[in-house]
Amino acid sequence: MSAAVERRTGYEALGLHPVINACATLTKLGGSVMPPAVVAAMADAARCFVDLEELQRRVGARIAELTHNEAAYVSSGAAAGMVLATAACTVGMDREAHARIPRLDTVKNEIIVQSVHRNGYDYAVRQVGVTVVDVGGPHGTSREELEAAFTDRTAAVFWFQGAMNAPGELPLEQVIQTAGRRGIPVLVDAAAQLPPVENLWRFTRMGAALAIFSGGKDLAGPQSSGLVLGRADLIEACRFHGNPNQSIGRPMKVGKEELMGALAAVERYTRLDHAERMRGFEETVARWVERLAPVEGVAARRDFPNEAGQPVPWALVTFDNEATRDTVVDRLRSGDPSVAVAKAGAAAIHLNPMTLQPGEADVVLERLLDEIGTSIRRCD
Ligand SMILES: *Cc1c(COP(=O)(O)O)cnc(C)c1O
Repeated sequence: MSAAVERRTGYEALGLHPVINACATLTKLGGSVMPPAVVAAMADAARCFVDLEELQRRVGARIAELTHNEAAYVSSGAAAGMVLATAACTVGMDREAHARIPRLDTVKNEIIVQSVHRNGYDYAVRQVGVTVVDVGGPHGTSREELEAAFTDRTAAVFWFQGAMNAPGELPLEQVIQTAGRRGIPVLVDAAAQLPPVENLWRFTRMGAALAIFSGGKDLAGPQSSGLVLGRADLIEACRFHGNPNQSIGRPMKVGKEELMGALAAVERYTRLDHAERMRGFEETVARWVERLAPVEGVAARRDFPNEAGQPVPWALVTFDNEATRDTVVDRLRSGDPSVAVAKAGAAAIHLNPMTLQPGEADVVLERLLDEIGTSIRRCD
């Protein structure tokens, strides 16, 4: 039995069909597929008991070394890392205040966020009990607006990196400078900011106190893992609030399997030949565009960068109208094999090579050519 078939057995026993993901490292599609080295590390970790706190420390030390950071903590996803980072910057290791979470009336409890950065993931910050102080407006933020937002209750500035970045935002360098003069830490949600691999140290080298990444996106670690990287004192406070300690992080358990899986993923990712991988993505996109461009009823071209701002090419396929696009997307998803693609603008789709497994790029192309043929014939 081939590995691909074996992989599917468990899901199919439940009546679920695997999805070919030409969309992105979407949580709702499973994040990413773990490479064999990560699966092996998790299986190995599952075979015996171990001191979990000591394991978290040793894994953290090694990940810090690999990512050129002072310290590291493995959380149960980037969102959980944001919860712990927020607790670290407000409550710190204060035992009295920690017992009162989410009532933070005895500590600095204001987190500054630029209005343009507000998004669904800020729930992770808010659940700690902080007050999110919005700065700026829908078009951006000025330095003066940020300056005016600091009070004696300011605990941190949260910066979101990704689809929410907007031309009018106050740049990260300036935010770090402005906050730094007051001794206020800047926390960066960089959940989907890999590649490039250098981002693992770029934000913290710029002066961010912590940078937070998903373990289950391009890093291809366990889906329920995340990395908090940066200042040792704040990482220590993350530990204080994290499982197995009884605090806000106790429900966000990271098991020994996830810890060893996350470490294996970082070991692999920091050694990968990223240039070679990028050449592979370019070849895939070029092949897609070459085959799709002459097809009647669609236009196809290379697009760059992708929605999360990752420096990865993808293909933009534009249809004559929205209805045809929607029909094709639905039929790709409900067909066999099921293919997930991202809608783009009014009548286009994006095809992303990043999340495809070997051999799937051609399957995506054939399925798409098939559905385009069917849908366009039908509309005639
Ligand atoms: C995916 C994502 C998160 C959440 O990461 P998890 O690892 O799924 O918890 C947070 N912020 C942004 C911008 C993301 O893209």
